[in-house]
Parts: sequence; C-alpha cells; structure tokens
Amino acid sequence: MLVVMQEGATEAQTESVIQRLVEMGFTVHRSTGVRHTVLGGVGPIDDFDPAALEVMEGVKECHRIVSAYKLASRHFRPGGTVLRIGSVEIGGPSVVVMAGPCSVESVEQMEESARVVAQAGARIIRGGAFKPRSSPYSFQGMGEEGLRIMRAAADRNGLLVVSEVMDQMQIPLLVEYSDILQVGARNMQNFNLLRELGRVRKPILLKRGIAATIEELLLSAEYIMSGGNYEVMLCERGIRTFETSTRNTMDIAAIPVLKRLSHLPVIADPSHGTGKRDYVMPMARAAVAAGADGLLVEVHPDPDHAFSDGAQTLRPEQFQELMKQSGSIAAAIGRRV
Ligand code: PEP
Ligand code: MN
Repeated sequence: MLVVMQEGATEAQTESVIQRLVEMGFTVHRSTGVRHTVLGGVGPIDDFDPAALEVMEGVKECHRIVSAYKLASRHFRPGGTVLRIGSVEIGGPSVVVMAGPCSVESVEQMEESARVVAQAGARIIRGGAFKPRSSPYSFQGMGEEGLRIMRAAADRNGLLVVSEVMDQMQIPLLVEYSDILQVGARNMQNFNLLRELGRVRKPILLKRGIAATIEELLLSAEYIMSGGNYEVMLCERGIRTFETSTRNTMDIAAIPVLKRLSHLPVIADPSHGTGKRDYVMPMARAAVAAGADGLLVEVHPDPDHAFSDGAQTLRPEQFQELMKQSGSIAAAIGRRV
C-alpha cells in the first residue's frame, strides 16, 4: 500500500495520513523525495478501499501494491536511491568501484592493494575477513585482525571499506571496522541475519544467491528494509546454471531488470560472475553499459599466490586497464567512473 502526498503537502497532513494508516493496522515507512513524500504501508490488510485515503487532505494518490516486496519496489522511491557514505555517492551519476583481494591475508598485501586500487580510482576497498568457503579445510579468514588491517590500509589511502558479515554474532565487529556490510551469496536467504541487519545503521551490500531468482533477491532486501535499514545495494554476482565454461553465469540482464523493479543501487561483481581473470574486464564493461551503479572487483598484488579466488583476481595493471575501459563505457552513457 503506497500513499503519494501532493507536492507541498504540510507535515500535519502527512502526519494525519500516517496516523490513519497505523489505525488501519499498517506499519508505515516514509520516503521523502525531492518533490513528493511517499508513505509505504506494510501490513496484513489487503481488503480496504484506497479511495478512503485518497480523499484525505494533501494526498495525491494511493495504490495497492500487489508485488510481494514493497519497500524495495521502484514505486516506493520512483526517482531512485542515492546512498551517501562519507564523500562517496552510490546510485548517482558516478559508477563506484569497490576493489581489493578476495581475502585479507597480511598487512603488506592490504597496504599494497589499497595503494593500487586507490591510485587507479576505486573509492572503496574490499576484502573478506570472514570467509564462506565451500570446504572447511580452506582458509577461513583472519577475523578481527584482518578487519583492523584493512581499516588501517583504507584510512591511509582515503578509501571506504566493504567486508562480509557471515553471522549475527559478527555484526558488532563489522559495524566497528567496515563502512559497508556485505551479505554473501550463500547467506542471501539467512533470514535471521537479514532481520538483524535491518537494525543496523550501515549500508548493506546484498549479493544474489547462487540459485536465487530476482524476486527472491528483492524479498531478501525487503527483510532488511522492513527492519528500518533502507540503505541496501543489490549485487549481481552470477548464478549457477548448466554452463561450465565460467564459474557462474553472469546475469547481465538482471541489472536493467533490477533497475526497473527497484529503486536500490545495483552493483555488478564480474569476478565471482565469471571465475576467470580473462573474462572480468569484458563483463565489467558489459555491466557498466547495462546500467550498473557500481562494480565489485577482485584485485591482488600477486594473484598467483592469493589465499582464495586467485584465478578470477586481476593483477594491478589489469585493474588499471579495467578502470580506464569502464570509464570510456560510462562516458558513452552519460556517466563517469
Ligand atoms: C566475496 O565477495 O568474497 C564472496 C565470497 O562472494 P559471493 O558471496 O558472491 O560468493
Ligand atoms: Mn572471492
């Protein structure tokens, strides 16, 4: 249920609509746009007459939303969401690049990674301190020490930090050290984790599950948003199909589909999307052309000795080239990197 207030509607008018919605049993989420305030009513009631609200003072229109997700829907914020994190805007005209190694491994590795990615123009460094590995015998991450190392390297190079949270118990640590909390593909439907992240006041990078539909991704975003955290980014990182030439099948079409269905910024991860270094740059170009608001790219000073995902990780000079080429594609569609 969505109520769009008229341009210039007073605070008192908006408040009385909110009160009415609450009386009807809805939980109300408010979105203040440049011209209109939109009230999203979430609740179990479906059999009411929207005309009852449309006659109220200051109301422009009222719609019953039939899609399963409401707060993540484009209707809730037709102009799109721009997340502001420090001096970085995600969802605006710039395509924001988040880059760094798959895993945090050492002080030297992170210092060098931060220097390389910042110099090439990335604004955010990535690196996992808690790693979801398919095998329990693989490297599991450095934990808090890794977060501390990455934070220091980021601060020295003017970068923000994105890192994965695998479990509710890790949330306080991630909130302390990271600017953006990543939910990995394997946790996209960890509903208890999503609910807890709804209470966090830090942006969330939500990755698409390996076998998740676009609607399921949006419903997972809805879990976080319905808890009050509207700062969510959606990430296409490839899905599992019958194809074996690439690690996953990078669903480029998901980018314009998500942009149409949702107001949330869309990030593309061509590293996990392909699993092979040679395909990362072409898929980064394709993602920017398709309208991605950001890229998540694995880069390592020495990928052949990376603790995880070396095969899909770019060398520094390859990343510099990716930045250059992505910039040309962005310029062709009126954006910049
Ligand atoms: C990652 O970004 O390091 C990662 C583990 O990604 P995904 O959850 O998409 O596999
Ligand atoms: Mn990885």
